[in-house]
Amino acid sequence: MSNWEAVIGLEIHVQLKTRTKMFCRCPNGFGGEPNTQTCPVCLAFPGALPVANRRAVEECIKLGLALDCEIAERAVFHRKNYFYPDLPKAYQISQYDEPLCARGKLAVPTENGDITVGITRAHLEEDAAKNVHVAASGRIHGATATLVDFNRGGTPLVEIVTEPDLHDAESAKRFLQLLRQTVVELDLSDAELEKGSMRFDVNVSVRPAGSDELRTRTELKNMNSFNFAAKGIEREIARQIRVYEQGGIVEQETLHFDPAHEESPPMRSKEEAQDYRYFPDPDLVPVHPPVDVVERLRGEIGELPGARIKRIADTLSFYDADVLVTGGLDRLWADVVAAGAEPKEAANVLANQFVATGIAPSAVNAAELAKLVSARAEIPRAAFDEALAKTGDAGFTAAPYLEQKVVGDAAELDPIIERIIDANPGQAEQFRGGKQGLLGFFVGQVMKETGGKADPRVVNERVREKLRA
Ligand SMILES: [Zn+2]
Repeated sequence: MSNWEAVIGLEIHVQLKTRTKMFCRCPNGFGGEPNTQTCPVCLAFPGALPVANRRAVEECIKLGLALDCEIAERAVFHRKNYFYPDLPKAYQISQYDEPLCARGKLAVPTENGDITVGITRAHLEEDAAKNVHVAASGRIHGATATLVDFNRGGTPLVEIVTEPDLHDAESAKRFLQLLRQTVVELDLSDAELEKGSMRFDVNVSVRPAGSDELRTRTELKNMNSFNFAAKGIEREIARQIRVYEQGGIVEQETLHFDPAHEESPPMRSKEEAQDYRYFPDPDLVPVHPPVDVVERLRGEIGELPGARIKRIADTLSFYDADVLVTGGLDRLWADVVAAGAEPKEAANVLANQFVATGIAPSAVNAAELAKLVSARAEIPRAAFDEALAKTGDAGFTAAPYLEQKVVGDAAELDPIIERIIDANPGQAEQFRGGKQGLLGFFVGQVMKETGGKADPRVVNERVREKLRA
């Protein structure tokens, strides 16, 4: 048992996929030529006035409700002042001490019960523009120039801040996965890490196990995958423990995680929390969410992923339930089972094979997939894989694949096996002399002879028996 306990808190930014930006009517989305989706408001021309996007406010409230937050009766937009080229107003409109949503929680189911993570707040703000560093690496170091694309400037963002309730990398990863799935299911954002529509920073500190002090924390930024996040957190925990055990002190700093280099080089050192000189934005009125709107939004939230994992874990293993739900596959699984497939078998196919095809679950005809799943053991592996890869095609039917039967019958296989052994007496002799590796040679020959239609498990068994005979 370690003498140290890690303390982890998360800050997550999610870009909402509203039609327009947060405070102006510019289209919100990717893909435009740089600086074409802009206007006097999001370019900060003097005198241009922002108006809050009602849809974005509602979506933030909806997420807050899904995270069990209290919805403020009055929420205020503040100016967060700092200078950076991606911020034309020299302030970001954000929320400070009167956020839309606060004091919530998200329960992350695990095999050993829930890990409940407190949600400090979920508030609305606008995204900054995108700095494009002109360099081979795309990173700021070694760049010869930096260009600014203001299309992203003003995109609605929800910032979610957690309490420091997590204590290991794996739980942090699972929290992030569950949060992502929640956001996607509520249809608020595509939350794609690679595209930056979901981004997160991780605060990490360590303390002696059993203590409740909060020591200096470091911040890990710019992680673009859950696995990198978990890896970065583990590495940072180990580093801080090393520093303390060697008698040093951990400095408050921001670490830029670069997965290409197995280390986290420091970006900049923060002496104290920066003073952003927050003050209420005089151009924006406070938001007073009407009770009936809040209740309508609450009514639009279906059964959330965490609850579904627990429900499905009654039928399947916890692991399978978790993979299905966080992979967005559990509804398809339920449909496939309803269409007659065996639950465990359907889960195996979906979690292990279907997920790798990248096919959208919504494109699949569950009844046809169910036929395929039910016949898996009787269809040659290659045919099954081919069929599975086509389940997303319009008009896909399983029938042609179901006709291709595995050659699994000993009566069919034995003559083939005997013929191959007779044709390769030298190898057969060597196998009997102890060269076990030659089994693969014979199995391969049989598979070839049967056009890949034999069940490799049965072939293995029969070949072994025949060679020993
Ligand atoms: Zn604009």
